[in-house]
Amino acid sequence: MCGIIGYVGSENALPIIVKGLKKLEYRGYDSAGIALFGAAGFDVVKQKGTLSALEERLAGSTLSSFMGIGHTRWATHGEPSDINSHPHVGSKGRIAVVHNGIIENYRQLRERLTKRGIDFVSQTDSEVIPQLAEYYYDGDMLDTVVKVTNALGGSYALGFMCVDEPGTLIAVKKDNPLIIGVSEHGNFIASDVPAVLRHTNKVYYLDDAEIAVLTKDGVRFYNQDKDPVTKTPETVTWSVDSAEKGGWPHFMLKEIMEQPKIMRDTIRAAAEQAYLPNPGAAAGGLDVANFDKLVITACGSAYNAGVVAKYVFERLCRIPVEVELASEFRYKDPIVDERTLVILVSQSGETADTIAAMREAKSKGAVTLSIVNVVGSTISKEADHCLMTLAGPEIAVATTKAFSAQLVVLYTLAVGFAVRLGKLTPEQGQGMLEEIESLPEKTETILEQVDAIQKYASECIVYKSIFFIGRNIDYAIAMEGSLKLKEISYIHSEAYAGGELKHGTISLVEENTLVVAIGGCERLHGKIMSNIEQVISRGAKVLFIGNSREDDMGGKLSFVAIPKVNELFSPSLSVIVLQLFSYYVAANKGLDIDKPRNLAKSVTVE
Ligand code: GLU
Repeated sequence: MCGIIGYVGSENALPIIVKGLKKLEYRGYDSAGIALFGAAGFDVVKQKGTLSALEERLAGSTLSSFMGIGHTRWATHGEPSDINSHPHVGSKGRIAVVHNGIIENYRQLRERLTKRGIDFVSQTDSEVIPQLAEYYYDGDMLDTVVKVTNALGGSYALGFMCVDEPGTLIAVKKDNPLIIGVSEHGNFIASDVPAVLRHTNKVYYLDDAEIAVLTKDGVRFYNQDKDPVTKTPETVTWSVDSAEKGGWPHFMLKEIMEQPKIMRDTIRAAAEQAYLPNPGAAAGGLDVANFDKLVITACGSAYNAGVVAKYVFERLCRIPVEVELASEFRYKDPIVDERTLVILVSQSGETADTIAAMREAKSKGAVTLSIVNVVGSTISKEADHCLMTLAGPEIAVATTKAFSAQLVVLYTLAVGFAVRLGKLTPEQGQGMLEEIESLPEKTETILEQVDAIQKYASECIVYKSIFFIGRNIDYAIAMEGSLKLKEISYIHSEAYAGGELKHGTISLVEENTLVVAIGGCERLHGKIMSNIEQVISRGAKVLFIGNSREDDMGGKLSFVAIPKVNELFSPSLSVIVLQLFSYYVAANKGLDIDKPRNLAKSVTVE
């Protein structure tokens, strides 16, 4: 959360920083600010609200500089306000800082500095950083950054400028992401690649405790002892267009529509990485026969992908699978050891809770496998093994394409494991893989129904609460449908296992309650239809997402058809309808779909 960017080079930093911030806005959007290196100190402009509010403040600005830093905030400490926005400048006006993360010992540091007569102006944890830097500074900014980071507890990605060191931008990080982009006209620091893609695809991924010193001519890296460190840049394959809206009203709709392509790309790569059709060679030296159980741990939608995957792994591999919220797993003293494979699922590869869960699992001797969308991210690097999703940059806060990519990687892995364990013959495994490969085309046929789904969703904005039901693997995907609706439409919703309704929740069903029922699981068609009858008898209206419908139950049962596929992979099809449904409910409510209130993408704080 929070997006930071910095630039030093031969062009005017102001438009470069503002455009870069636009690409990072998914990380936070309660306030934003910039600091430019000016002729007499820093030129700082900070504004509560979304980035467009800052842009309005800057409209017609004649500010210009070869160097600057910018920030788009998701407040953790101190309300969103002009004063609490970043960059923060020390009270001497000498050092400016942007910060992503949380400084856990900020109270102690603030107290110590206040006793030394330093006045604080904001309520943030971040302000201690420039104050401390000014306190330590004695003519060497690199040295100051080492001293500051030694004093800080918590997590941070930081960009520093000092008035006494023109032309030098310094960056450092711990547990929060930071990349360094190098281009012909200048060099960048940024929280994520899309911020610099217009200028360069050559980036360095900064490691914890490494310090980057940028000038317009180059970048040098140091460790905490100020010894030079040699790093190799990586070439990002994402295209500039992939991070642009390209005529779509929202990134979310664009990303929904991209799903057939990204599924095709990801399945192809996953089949190679998971070593099908040659399952004898285990994935990257990973042999499932060495494990007694699998644990999948993740947050948000990635957790829901894990719940779907539990059904798939258990059915195909006959191996026990636990799915744990990373924020719970990390503190529960989990029962894992070297005979446990812990699978970490994270789009950004920087999710703070999932990083902590990974480290906890490793410390107990478990083997870790990550499924991640961002090359070079912390989880992709630190896990023992990594499978990439090839979803490209996902900008909308509510995930769609990265979720679909996670599902197909998990399916492919499950098939590979099942063949390796002898639960499927290689021929059966190949048949399963062909079913997975049929998903992109089947997704296309669902996307063709967009007008009908839009029309139905436009009538659903009146509901205060919507229930999602499904059985078995359809229950798993009902959870994702419910989460998607909640996060972007602000309508309350819950997901229930169809058979569980009668144990309590059915008391909430009354005249005109909307229930979305999922029936991709052919085997249980009769059972979910019975649950539908039960809620319709109590006055509910139902949207049924399934392969077929016998009748419309007196006009109470609306229907969206999904193509037939092996039931284990059907969540990939029903979720497309659920995504479009949520999208159009939110669109008809006129909401800011790509930036839902209180949320941000890439959750790098606890
Ligand atoms: N803790 C800082 C603040 O509240 C940065 C927040 C973040 O990175 O999400 O301003």
